[in-house]
Amino acid sequence: MKKRIENMELKDKTVIVRCDYNVPIYNGRILDDTKIVASLETIRYLIKNNCKIIILSHLGKVKNEEDKLYNSLEPVAKRLKELVGREVYFSREILDPELPKRIELMLPRDILMLENTRFLDVPNKLESNCDAQVSSFFASLADVFVNDAFASSHRAHASVVGIAKYLPSCIGFSVERELVSLDRFLKTPEHPFTVIMGGAKVEDKLELISTMLPKCDHLLLAGGLANSFLKALNFNIGSSLATESNKTLETLKQIMLTYRDKLMLPLDAIVGSTYEENYTRYKRINEIGDNEVIMDVGIKTLEKYKTAIKTSKTIFLNGTMGRYEEARYSNGTKELLNILKNQDAVVVVGGGDSVSATKMFGFAEDLTYLSVGGGATLEYLTKGHLVGIDAIKEEEEIEVLDV
Ligand code: ADP
Ligand code: MG
Repeated sequence: MKKRIENMELKDKTVIVRCDYNVPIYNGRILDDTKIVASLETIRYLIKNNCKIIILSHLGKVKNEEDKLYNSLEPVAKRLKELVGREVYFSREILDPELPKRIELMLPRDILMLENTRFLDVPNKLESNCDAQVSSFFASLADVFVNDAFASSHRAHASVVGIAKYLPSCIGFSVERELVSLDRFLKTPEHPFTVIMGGAKVEDKLELISTMLPKCDHLLLAGGLANSFLKALNFNIGSSLATESNKTLETLKQIMLTYRDKLMLPLDAIVGSTYEENYTRYKRINEIGDNEVIMDVGIKTLEKYKTAIKTSKTIFLNGTMGRYEEARYSNGTKELLNILKNQDAVVVVGGGDSVSATKMFGFAEDLTYLSVGGGATLEYLTKGHLVGIDAIKEEEEIEVLDV
């Protein structure tokens, strides 16, 4: 286990925490504060320990000066203040030479949030390239570093990996919860273990597919992933989203030869059309026309997938069954979640869109675990480690003396 926050000397210290406050904001309004709520356990623990608290996070994509206008963390500081019930000071300057003095003047339990770390990427990518000077500046502000941003832990950025080189470091409660849950449910899953994968681009998911196949009993496919497999099998998928790469198609053929007993593909679909916006039809998978576009799975597919799901003890869902963002193509994803809800099994959902869909359709409370990690979760499940977690030392093992 990595160094835990509860095993650190924190009393009266200044602690710099990397949070994941990459929340959706529209017109300065936070649309979903789950990530801020998820950080409260760590923040409150630091308050209880009389710490001065410095908070770092990124928000959105910042490629140029204009992006900065829409990606300030200031609304997050305001929301955190409401949630934690204490003032949260905010510094618009990140690499401000006055900061150490300002922190010196802070009282124990005071909280200071710095502006979006990705502002440092314009123009020189100082955050994303893990600039040594930036990393040591961050470290100079505090005595201890806490990484509580699982969703950023696949990035070797200054605020994630860089600081940990210079300070005693540990993982926060939300990172610990994520690591423990993913390990407990998916490292040695109870069998039968069924993986359900949908979503858009098969290339993004190939590694995960290859990691899961030897471990699982069934892999049920949907979305652009299934389209690509169908294309590799020479089905006419019309104008549906699928890989264009012959190399990928070849890889998919190989996967199907090796794992034909585990793989399941859709039998039917809800399709749209390239030329008529309101066109929506039900089609068997071998009836797709050239101008039709597969947008969702059909009822026969769900019935077939249900037979595998019914006998499963562990289920992992990544990717949606269709274009769930559009109501007319959201039925497959909703129905699947409903089947999972009624299943007596451990059900874990991972991936940004999959978790959003689960919440959006009201199934968040019905499933065992919703991973907070997005892309980091998929990388953790594929590679078994993350660069930002590797940067934290292991707990010293207690020496057992043989007497
Ligand atoms: P996650 O973020 O959970 O890893 P993905 O991003 O891979 O999941 O999958 C969700 C995305 O896949 C959504 O944007 C959805 O619209 C898209 N998608 C699913 N099925 C299809 C389809 N048949 N055609 C086009 N896009 C699809
Ligand atoms: Mg996604």
